[in-house]
Amino acid sequence: MTGVYDVAVVGAGPAGSTVAKVSVKHGFSTVVFERRTTVGIPVQCGELLPTPSEAHNLFPKSKRMPREVHVPTKFVTNRTRTIRLISPNGASYDFSFEANIIDRTGFDQYLTHLAMDAGADFHLQSFVKTRTRNNELVIKSNQSTKKTRARIVVGADGSRSIVGRSLGPQFMNSESDLSPSLQYVMSGVDTDTSVVEMYFGGKIAPGGYAWCIPKGDGVANIGFGMRRNMVHDEKPLRSYLNHFAFKTLASSLKNAKIESRVGAIIPVGGPLKRTWTNNVLLVGDAAGHVMASNGGGLPTALCGGKIAGHTIVNHLKMDTPLSEYEKQWKFEFGYELDTAFRVLKVADSVMPSDMTTDICMRLAGVRFLEPLIRCRLPLSVDLASKTLVRILNQVI
Ligand SMILES: Cc1cc2nc3c(=O)[nH]c(=O)nc-3n(C[C@H](O)[C@H](O)[C@H](O)COP(=O)(O)OP(=O)(O)OC[C@H]3O[C@@H](n4cnc5c(N)ncnc54)[C@H](O)[C@@H]3O)c2cc1C
Repeated sequence: MTGVYDVAVVGAGPAGSTVAKVSVKHGFSTVVFERRTTVGIPVQCGELLPTPSEAHNLFPKSKRMPREVHVPTKFVTNRTRTIRLISPNGASYDFSFEANIIDRTGFDQYLTHLAMDAGADFHLQSFVKTRTRNNELVIKSNQSTKKTRARIVVGADGSRSIVGRSLGPQFMNSESDLSPSLQYVMSGVDTDTSVVEMYFGGKIAPGGYAWCIPKGDGVANIGFGMRRNMVHDEKPLRSYLNHFAFKTLASSLKNAKIESRVGAIIPVGGPLKRTWTNNVLLVGDAAGHVMASNGGGLPTALCGGKIAGHTIVNHLKMDTPLSEYEKQWKFEFGYELDTAFRVLKVADSVMPSDMTTDICMRLAGVRFLEPLIRCRLPLSVDLASKTLVRILNQVI
């Protein structure tokens, strides 16, 4: 046993480092276990973070959100002003959306250093294998296995959280809601650096979308996320990305070169119904805190991490119940996460083919498409899907 801590955090992503910073700053011994060799590498992210004012528009009830998405300028590689949605037949719909495109590796390492400088212990190359009921963690590190125990364990270990699994199925993202994603970082890309493009269609990204996110200096993140249950063939994932990069984007990428490749999972099943027990909290992707309709999880990882940190501090100081965490994140961003999940379900039902997707996007127009991307339904959920289905039945 390496020791007993007040708080043990599994995962040094943005959610985990944020929790650790808060708990250690309030005087509680805190340890973070991270399986990677270097924090933030490889980057598994499109690196788009809404600006503070855009985050306020996205999560209007949250007072914390604009503060939490603030990124020091040195980690901002580009600033985009427009999101362009492109339907399968190539029609485009633009709306204004301000985002910082960030150096995610640098930003993750910065968050880690804030926690380390405040006194948190970080252990890299430390894979947490299991968690027992009394919060004992078994950690595999290099060739050895060690154990530690903590009063509170935080599962900040991503979409397939080991900590969540140790608590049972209701604390896990369902496998069918995990969206496989692939991305190339490419140089020599010739696109408008103020525009983020999102492409829809069954050939491009069944049940999801593909993106081109300009990082500046001719570099862009070119990627896609899809849903397995929307796929009717056995094509390898890479062939979708290659089709998108080298056919759909052929003119912009004719001189481009692949610098690196990443593959990862985005949980798009909406937030977990339960994210706490009497000695565990789940945060970030581990809690399903991702906007299911656009795959963004960075703002909620940062904000949820802050809420979790303060809840733990109040619990350890004053015995405030850990259930406060769930109350607070639901207040700050629960409605938007639920709505984003409903938007995804509506999209599934009214966009079964490229033809209906084209028609729906044309009928909806920017006025209706923009709120969908912003996690808002322009009409009530039922009304929205029924109206679209009725219109489709008339048109087809
Ligand atoms: C391809 C792709 C593109 C994306 N693009 C965007 C975007 O542009 N904007 C946006 O807002 N969101 C985006 N997201 C989502 C965003 O990256 C995540 O929501 C965000 O990283 C969640 O932060 P987190 O701290 O919860 O988890 P993570 O960042 O995934 O961190 C989890 C950490 O836990 C570690 N870990 C896991 N298991 C263990 C274990 N057993 N033991 C020890 N350590 C462990 C991992 O190594 C990792 O470092 C994207 C996701 C993907 C996959």
